[in-house]
Amino acid sequence: MSEAKVLIRLVEVTKTYKTNDLEVHAVNRVSLTIQRGDFVVLAGPSGCGKTTLMNMMGALDVPTSGTLEFDGKRMDQMSPKELSDLRLHQMGFVFQAYNLIPVLTAYENAEYVLLLRGLGEAERKERAGGMLARVGLSDHAHKRPGQLSGGQQQRVAIARALAGDPPLLIADEPTANLDSRASQDLIELMHAMNREKGTTIVIGSHDQRVIDQADRLIMLEDGKILSDQRKTEKGAPE
Ligand code: ADP
Ligand code: MG
Repeated sequence: MSEAKVLIRLVEVTKTYKTNDLEVHAVNRVSLTIQRGDFVVLAGPSGCGKTTLMNMMGALDVPTSGTLEFDGKRMDQMSPKELSDLRLHQMGFVFQAYNLIPVLTAYENAEYVLLLRGLGEAERKERAGGMLARVGLSDHAHKRPGQLSGGQQQRVAIARALAGDPPLLIADEPTANLDSRASQDLIELMHAMNREKGTTIVIGSHDQRVIDQADRLIMLEDGKILSDQRKTEKGAPE
């Protein structure tokens, strides 16, 4: 694989937590590259290190040792401003509990990242409105999260995450609170975004329905990579 196709590179990344005298290696010397356009599921039982690993990829947490690169740039050498710009412009986040802003409408939630980026009203309207239409929620644009089902709220979260068209979507247990139908719809939506926009998708999940639909499945155990397999024709991992 050419260097230009590497979006994220992890080299010997370790995250250690110390509680009292006990050391837990939440992530233990993980080396890994995520290619542009990958659709990756990080899987494994609760406590295996999925969230810790994704938080480091998402510049929400820093490793105890080892290095991460985003698009060829070392994350440990970026200033706080560069890191927040990285999160704002290059990444979208989706969480288990949706994390929408309850007092804002679906449209205003979808628009939120664009406001932070300082985009003008016309462009915000086009992008946020377009993404809400794309996730099938144009008719619900004026509703607040409390008036929407879990599946609809998570679609708004995807619209918010992707309205600014970032190259990377990080989703931590995105289907944990959804029924089968809503889970299936959400996975199909993420696959469609991956195909249509080329968005690189990294999902952490122990949901078998999600695991079954990974293009690339990375199994974790006790903070280590147990296996890394591609299930589609996109090419073999390095
Ligand atoms: P997963 O997302 O796969 O459930 P996590 O990344 O949340 O796994 O946790 C990995 C390990 O690190 C677990 O043993 C967990 O208890 C521990 N851990 C995570 N966050 C902290 C923290 N802030 N302080 C102490 N231990 C933590
Ligand atoms: Mg987790």
